[in-house]
Amino acid sequence: MIRKTDLPADARRDTLAVREGLPRTEWGENSEALFITSSFVHPDAETAARRFANEEEAFVYSRFSNPTVTMMERRLAALEGTSGCIGTASGMSAILLLVLGLLKGGDHVVCSRSVFGSTIKLFQDFAKFGIETTFVSQTEVAQWRDAMRPNTKLLFAETPSNPLTETCDIRALAEIAHAGGAKLAVDNCFCTPALQRPVEFGADFVVHSGTKFLDGQGRVVAGAVCGPAEAIDGQLVPVMRSAGMALSPFNAWVVLKGLETLSIRLKAQSERALALARWLEAHPAVERVYHPGLESHPQHALAMAQQDGCGGAVVSFIARGERAGAFAVIDATRICSITSNLGDTKTTITHPASTSHGRLSEDQRQAAGITQGMIRVAVGLEDIEDLKADLARGLDQLKLA
Ligand SMILES: *Cc1c(COP(=O)(O)O)cnc(C)c1O
Repeated sequence: MIRKTDLPADARRDTLAVREGLPRTEWGENSEALFITSSFVHPDAETAARRFANEEEAFVYSRFSNPTVTMMERRLAALEGTSGCIGTASGMSAILLLVLGLLKGGDHVVCSRSVFGSTIKLFQDFAKFGIETTFVSQTEVAQWRDAMRPNTKLLFAETPSNPLTETCDIRALAEIAHAGGAKLAVDNCFCTPALQRPVEFGADFVVHSGTKFLDGQGRVVAGAVCGPAEAIDGQLVPVMRSAGMALSPFNAWVVLKGLETLSIRLKAQSERALALARWLEAHPAVERVYHPGLESHPQHALAMAQQDGCGGAVVSFIARGERAGAFAVIDATRICSITSNLGDTKTTITHPASTSHGRLSEDQRQAAGITQGMIRVAVGLEDIEDLKADLARGLDQLKLA
């Protein structure tokens, strides 16, 4: 039996973020151990046989069980408020595992058309296995209801969206899913459980790219699916055992330690992002700013209710001067990292139209609202005045031009 930590049953989220995991080993380590081992030794052949037959719970082989990965899974589940969690090699493989575990040929999926680009591609690829996906508006709940079919088994949402920070109503989508006998999965990458816990609004599964805020310092690629233990253990673990999109113990350890500071990072980064968004809104060279914490955000009230009153760390804006203007602002920065990753303590700056959304046609981009002047900033922990100055360097030139 894999023992549980000896924490009070009513321990709160901030406590669980630094304490939930596994009991410490006989050596009494205070920081969680990193178990770099591919397999585990059994006391005798009879015990090994029982463990391989799932008659006795124990660590067996790191493709599907490893103590460091288990610690990360238990801690993330505690934060999301789910009874189960499974770590995966990446955020994308978390979605792959979810679909392989829950769906079969002939099933139908309804998905927001504003989800992460590779997520759209992956759901399109499932068509060749007979799983069809209908893509609908991020914000128009009626479109989700209208897209439901008798064979719809999964609704997939990501909120807020990238880069426009459009919010979807998790509670409304959960009601539509459950009325049709389907499950709702939410990609909680942008808010993390520090700001938003989708199961509190009725979602069944929560998908994570651990690469982003969970690690929080841009070091590893990782992912996870959180949900009811029966579904995780009964439907996803068997797929992991045969398909092997396993999270490496080292990457799990980095994320595990990242979870300890997740809440204070998210709140501090979110606060800076809102301050930057307000400053951008007042800048004459900025046409429009997207951040859920702004009163001008179309789903401001919904976002505040769903996200613990925080807008999150990502702010996007449209600079005057189209693509040339956006490039001038990006190229004038000396602090922000020009990279497409997000969730780092280092602020990152991206031109979505030529990077993350570069594979779309210009018509598709226009329809998605991603114009050539748009810049996305994922705000880190630098001094906010330095970040404003970093963006002002390019923006002030646009105003003069
Ligand atoms: C990055 C990202 C993913 C994919 O995660 P990887 O860890 O890069 O595989 C999925 N969803 C969202 C919202 C993301 O930002």
